[in-house]
Amino acid sequence: MIAILLGPPGVGKGTQAKLAAAANGWKHLSTGELLRDEVARGTELGQAADGYMSRGDLVPDDLMLDMVVARVNAIDDKDVLLLDGFPRTFEQADALSAKAPSGSIRLALYFSAPDSVLTSRLLGRGRKDDTKEVITHRLGIYHKTTAPLVAFYLALGVLSEIDSDRSVEAIQVDTVNLVRTHLDGSDPS
Ligand code: ADP
Repeated sequence: MIAILLGPPGVGKGTQAKLAAAANGWKHLSTGELLRDEVARGTELGQAADGYMSRGDLVPDDLMLDMVVARVNAIDDKDVLLLDGFPRTFEQADALSAKAPSGSIRLALYFSAPDSVLTSRLLGRGRKDDTKEVITHRLGIYHKTTAPLVAFYLALGVLSEIDSDRSVEAIQVDTVNLVRTHLDGSDPS
């Protein structure tokens, strides 16, 4: 099955996905990490993505789809894939629905926290794209372009919200429990 991890930058999706994947033998695909790796290796994709990422813009959908779709298509029915940072646009969400094995998207975990909490966490992280101006820009794009996907997955009957203004441990308990309860392929509705 595929569990989509949705939520704003700085909400802790990556931290939760790493912990949950390591403890349960699940797969974790972070598009942000894949892109940073492409940038570090200086690949064609990395060179194309670098400017968007440094400004806090989304990398164009065609580049994202090339990178993600083949990996998603290859997932085995017995695997659990935590999809972290994708989709971020309706075009990506539609492509994922079209390419993922039928019935495999059984859960969209929506990690939520107030912008004030996100900003202070991101400032503390100190990544290259974590300056005050770029953070404000990324949050703006999140609210405009990615947040509407919450309603999209709610309408599909697969959304669960996790209050992420809590400890890493408390959020992890909810994350793992929600994924486990969707493992058996039962219809969420
Ligand atoms: P954060 O969780 O802080 O938003 P990520 O590591 O998920 O950080 O992403 C870092 C950057 O990579 C984003 O700001 C964006 O430029 C790019 N990126 C990652 N995933 C996507 C995506 N699905 N579509 C477009 N751009 C993306």
